[in-house]
Amino acid sequence: MIKKGITRQIVLHYFIVVFLALLLVEFVFLIAVQRYYYESIYNTINQQITSTNDFKETLSRTDEANNLSYLLANLQLGSTELQILDMDGRVLASSTAFESEHAVLQTSDISQAMNGSIGRWVGRQPLTGEQVMAVSHKLDLGGENTYIVRYLTSLDMVNSKLLVMGLLAVAVGVAVLVIVLIISIGMANSIVRPLNNITAVSAQMARGRLDVRVKGNYKHELGELASTLNFMAHEIVRSNQIKDDFISSISHELRTPLTSIKGWSETLDSGGYDPDETRIGMSIISKETERLIGLVEEMLDFSKLQQNQMKLVKGSVSIREIVQETMLNVWAKAEQKQVHLKLDTDETRAFNVFGDGNRLKQVFLNIVDNAIKFSHENSWIFLSVKEEKGQIIAAVQDTGIGISEEHLIKVRDRFFQVNHQNGGTGLGLAITQELVELHEGTITIQSELGSGTTVTVSLPALPEEETVAGEAPEHISNAEEVQETQAQKTQSDKGRT
Ligand code: ADP
Repeated sequence: MIKKGITRQIVLHYFIVVFLALLLVEFVFLIAVQRYYYESIYNTINQQITSTNDFKETLSRTDEANNLSYLLANLQLGSTELQILDMDGRVLASSTAFESEHAVLQTSDISQAMNGSIGRWVGRQPLTGEQVMAVSHKLDLGGENTYIVRYLTSLDMVNSKLLVMGLLAVAVGVAVLVIVLIISIGMANSIVRPLNNITAVSAQMARGRLDVRVKGNYKHELGELASTLNFMAHEIVRSNQIKDDFISSISHELRTPLTSIKGWSETLDSGGYDPDETRIGMSIISKETERLIGLVEEMLDFSKLQQNQMKLVKGSVSIREIVQETMLNVWAKAEQKQVHLKLDTDETRAFNVFGDGNRLKQVFLNIVDNAIKFSHENSWIFLSVKEEKGQIIAAVQDTGIGISEEHLIKVRDRFFQVNHQNGGTGLGLAITQELVELHEGTITIQSELGSGTTVTVSLPALPEEETVAGEAPEHISNAEEVQETQAQKTQSDKGRT
């Protein structure tokens, strides 16, 4: 007995479908063969019976007794019984003594013959129970002399042939069903065995064994399932690794400023109160605290983006102005590293987009900050802002260390860093990407290891004449946003500068 499950389902379905199909085919086949045999018998008798018309001439001139013996002598047909009946259905003469003479017959073939057509009847002989076929025809010799010529033949031989054929068909059917059963069990097993293997491996993975993999060369959907499961395990291992790296790098990032703050606060606490030393100490404490706040804010932003809780205060924002402000913000850092920044844009145009100025500034600060961080000393960073096909395109191109192809696909993953010694959290580009997407924009990163990196942000352009007082364009309205009023915009513009 096949136990419950996919195997039983598949075997049962195949079995039922093939069984029903066989039943139908065999039924139709046997009926067709039976009709063919019966039809052949009928045709043979029919040919003989219609030839009785040829004797009309000869018979009409002789008396009844002569007629009957003449007919019996001339119309005999092989293994059939020939009967001559009068118009009442009474048997006047018979080629065998089987049917008693003068018996009155009332089968349907006789009444059909009386009506002038060739009558046919298949049924059982009342005395013997034998199945027979009777074919009758009226022979009108004129005057009183009208007879029914009736042929009677046994169907037993044909029926026994049909029975043999039926048994043969059933045997073939059973053989086909056995073959179907074997094939369907094999087929079901070819699905169930890999499934059981995959289930066992996924159960191990669920218990934390992420080093196990589905082995075996499975095909089609099962192959896809196995490779998806293996990929999932690989990704979990990778993201665990990234998380571990993040924890270690963030701990390092937090410890450095904290150590510095602690050191200086202890120094200041120990007395002495040298005004110059106090000033330097306080400034370092303030700078390190700011760095800590920056780190924590980055993590908070990321968590808000993850939970879809980032609220955007949108209005008309000039990307040229934002990029210029960003350059001013990072000027000191760039100077320190002797990195030069150059902006290529049309100074007469604002290149407006509908967005949140502060968040877009965050986007460009992160991109330019990375460009400086990963540039060589005394190199150039080229910035550009332009409009193309209804999109504002802002690009930041550095000639720094670049990113290898292998790492390029991962740099936008959260917590990913090529080198953890460089500081940072690995969240910058993940946040940048999410923010750009919230503005219905796209970000592309092209890079070549050793040659430099180009980060391009593309945002839907706002027609120059459009003001923020109007309705938000439809393509931007699905982000969760706080629509800025003109008054709010003025305020936030002030805040930005
Ligand atoms: P973070 O800067 O905090 O490390 P990011 O998400 O901003 O995090 O960047 C992820 C990683 O991508 C960086 O650690 C760095 O390895 C790589 N990267 C980003 N921008 C550049 C660039 N301009 N040049 C070279 N590498 C870059």
